[in-house]
Amino acid sequence: MREVLVVGSANADLVVAAERRPSGGETVLGGDTTVLPGGKGANTAVAAAKLGADVALLGAVGDDAYGRMLTESLLAAGVRTDLLATVARPTGIAYITVTPDGENSILVSPGANAALEPSAVEGALTGVKVMVASMEIPLPTVERAVAAAAEAGACALLNLSPAAAVSARTLAALDVLLVNEHEAAWLLGSGAEPAKLLELGPRSAVVTLGARGALVITGDGLTEVASPKVEAVDTTGAGDAFTGALAASLATGVTLETAARKAVRVAAISVTRQGAQPSYPAAEELSAG
Ligand code: ATP
Repeated sequence: MREVLVVGSANADLVVAAERRPSGGETVLGGDTTVLPGGKGANTAVAAAKLGADVALLGAVGDDAYGRMLTESLLAAGVRTDLLATVARPTGIAYITVTPDGENSILVSPGANAALEPSAVEGALTGVKVMVASMEIPLPTVERAVAAAAEAGACALLNLSPAAAVSARTLAALDVLLVNEHEAAWLLGSGAEPAKLLELGPRSAVVTLGARGALVITGDGLTEVASPKVEAVDTTGAGDAFTGALAASLATGVTLETAARKAVRVAAISVTRQGAQPSYPAAEELSAG
């Protein structure tokens, strides 16, 4: 029985380095294209599975080479793919241009992810301890997944990334609202007290703070969870590593603070290595550290 259900996107990341990004009407020659498995849902599922959780990804890919690559990378990490639908749309693709200034420009073609209907959630929550959703899929599907988790008595966690206007009802059904600082400011207005996130309805919230770690907000108050100091090489997918680790830990029944303490360690390891999924640590690496 799956313990963690991730409801979210799977994308092929097509990464190309270029001296500068092309402006309208312009053609720029770049380097070779690197194709990597990505998408917030797939990354989160891989992060949780590598830590030993029993995880399934509820998502959609196309009947194409990228869809097969994504399915293989999920299986290799131990993620169940029985709820990963193959649909009549191309697999989602993120076209990522990397320039020497370190800025990434990303154009996402959602493709199959846009075909993930709310009805896909029906029956998927049986036996699930933690349901974690993120936002690169249709909003009605996210909202249905949160409602179904609440109905099934599963812990409902939403990584509101990229930020989107979810209903008050969805926010009120959440056990954990997980956002980064920008998303928190988008929700509350900049400068607002993070504790105000609970006034939006969730029972608890976590705000990730990049190299500073994370803030855990519960009815009992705020707790700062510091990150280990590391030499960051590539922060791509750090937020997804944090999300997957948090969900995997919560499924073992620990408190949100304990889960966040583990998640900052997992995310800190991930930023010391290149890429998203390949940078995520296995459980043994954490017990050694
Ligand atoms: P991303 O978009 O890069 O995936 P994010 O913007 O969603 O990330 P962040 O708050 O930047 O979220 O990072 C998520 C978590 O990753 C942080 O809470 C922290 O634990 C870890 N992290 C990110 N950057 C660093 C860093 N430089 N050093 C150590 N840990 C980091």
